[in-house]
Amino acid sequence: MLNGNLFSFRGEGIWGDSLLVIDLKWFILAAVGFLACYIFSLLCLRARMIQNFSKVQLNEINAMLSEILEVNFKSNSLANASQSILIVLKRFYGIDFISILLYNEKSDHFEIIASNVSSQHLKAIESYCTETYKTLGRSSAKVRAAEGGTLTYPSADERGVCFSYFTPLRYNQKLIGAILLENKSTNVMIQKKDRYDLYEKVFNSTALVLENVLYTENLIRLTSTDQLTGVYNRRFIDMTLAEQLSIHRNLGLSFSIAMFDIDHFKKFNDTYGHAFGDLVLTEVSNYVKRNLDENSWIARYGGEEFLIFFGRSQPEEVYQKVEELRQGLERLELTDGKTTVSVTASFGVCSFPKHDGSVNDLIQIADNALYRSKHTGRNKVTIAD
Ligand code: GH3
Ligand code: MG
Ligand code: MG
Repeated sequence: MLNGNLFSFRGEGIWGDSLLVIDLKWFILAAVGFLACYIFSLLCLRARMIQNFSKVQLNEINAMLSEILEVNFKSNSLANASQSILIVLKRFYGIDFISILLYNEKSDHFEIIASNVSSQHLKAIESYCTETYKTLGRSSAKVRAAEGGTLTYPSADERGVCFSYFTPLRYNQKLIGAILLENKSTNVMIQKKDRYDLYEKVFNSTALVLENVLYTENLIRLTSTDQLTGVYNRRFIDMTLAEQLSIHRNLGLSFSIAMFDIDHFKKFNDTYGHAFGDLVLTEVSNYVKRNLDENSWIARYGGEEFLIFFGRSQPEEVYQKVEELRQGLERLELTDGKTTVSVTASFGVCSFPKHDGSVNDLIQIADNALYRSKHTGRNKVTIAD
């Protein structure tokens, strides 16, 4: 039956009626069919691969996002939040160096708040990120890879960095900070270009968490001003110093604390009245405030005693700065329009990590040095042993 049909088809067909021609026709049909199936299965396989790849990507991103967002609920301090984010990123990307930076609006510069790069290279990285951001234009990230060598920006060469990925962190168009990923080999997960969009999502979440923590810190800041003098209050010291100690300890950086107390302050109250005493407190603290850089701040510790914090500073620079402040105060003329007086103050300074311990320990060390100044003639600076 089949043969008969075939035979009749063969007899009437467009392929002619020789057996060889019929075989060729079926061969071609089979080949076309096979090719179609092959192409179809390849397409299916590719579609399946894409689907699987996306699933892996999505799982990876989801896991990372939820860990980063969790940081938001677990920590309300910038140091803890950034350090936790660094650990999450390092675990997922398996990359050699990760630095999280915060944008300092005052200095128009990025500052590292968490990094696993050793402290002597942090300044170079901060400058590199600041410059890179300024030359980025509209592109959101800067990827650099050096095949068979190292990258040439400062400190990259020393650390054997061949690959770097820099991206600013923005939240609602606002520049919050930046992330710099660096690797000693160019063969890294982050280098897969098709994943950049997904990485951006992770970095957006990082920006969101940092923005939230900064927002909380700003709220604290608003309630942390001394009513009389306008400088920070004791509450600010308590909230901020522990945070700064943690950041400096993690980054291997130094900072200093100076405590100072106005000499014979009581005589201003007793001689010219309490209001004049208030004016002395305000003028003295604001003179110091005006003469500090963006990494330093002054807070009223209590009565006529103040604390100055010198972040990211070398002890020797601070000793010199404190001596300048002491001399500046000595030269200051304080007046309410009727009475003009001069004032002096006694200082005590200690520096982390030369002095280590809790925030209270450090304050105590600086305070002891201050009291040595008091007991050895006043109007002087004593550096803690
Ligand atoms: P020393 O050189 O040893 O530091 O002597 P001193 O007179 O500065 O220190 P003392 O502790 O004897 O006096 C501090 C005074 O500061 C006592 C207190 O009444 C006054 N005081 C504390 N807070 C304020 C304030 O807010 N306004 C005014 N006007 N005086 C204050
Ligand atoms: Mg005093
Ligand atoms: Mg006092």
